[in-house]
Amino acid sequence: MNIILPNEPYSFEDGAAVVEGNILYLYRPIDFDDLMIEMSYAINGRDTCYYCGKKIHPSKLTVDHRVPACFGGPTITNNLVSACKHCNSRKGNLYEDEYWRLLKLEKNAEKVATPEEKSQAKAALDAFWTDVKEKQEERFNGSVEPLPEDWLYHGNLNVITMRYRLNDPIGTGFKRVKSRYKKSKTILRAVLVSSNKHLLSGFNVCLFAKVGSHSDLVKVIVLENVVCMY
Ligand SMILES: [Zn+2]
Repeated sequence: MNIILPNEPYSFEDGAAVVEGNILYLYRPIDFDDLMIEMSYAINGRDTCYYCGKKIHPSKLTVDHRVPACFGGPTITNNLVSACKHCNSRKGNLYEDEYWRLLKLEKNAEKVATPEEKSQAKAALDAFWTDVKEKQEERFNGSVEPLPEDWLYHGNLNVITMRYRLNDPIGTGFKRVKSRYKKSKTILRAVLVSSNKHLLSGFNVCLFAKVGSHSDLVKVIVLENVVCMY
């Protein structure tokens, strides 16, 4: 897949990452998540909440994952929007379309007048939450793929070059992958790889897969318009 890039010229951390001719070139090791978040702000702006449409005070500015991070939603510009803290925390583990549905149902519930309408609005909200909880369970236990199918790469994993960096955290991230695997025998988080197959994000997933021989469970997203030059 191609990630959404900001308008050129774009440079991050004094030329560590540069957008040239619709390609993102990475010249030095950087935190790829940080780069994607900065890029998302460059693309989506910092002023308006994507969900409620209100102006965002700088102290309340966040990026929200449209496919929630808890279901493996990657930190790439395609999956990020600018959102106010309020919407971000209310959205929680909901997918973008689920949050839109919730906002609509709540709006309807505010408008009702008669007791009968009131109980109908409440029933609609209850049905929404029952449906969402069911779907969340299916995503967590691996019976439904939580990521859009067209984001995933189905080629050979062995060509990935793993880059060790001094600040790669081996600890909480690794434990998180391990405990999720223990519960559901799945690895929700996909690893991000450049077009020339260098690992950009997902170090702990790769490490866990290597240690436990679970490489068949690793999901890969290849970013076709990102080239690693180091
Ligand atoms: Zn908002």
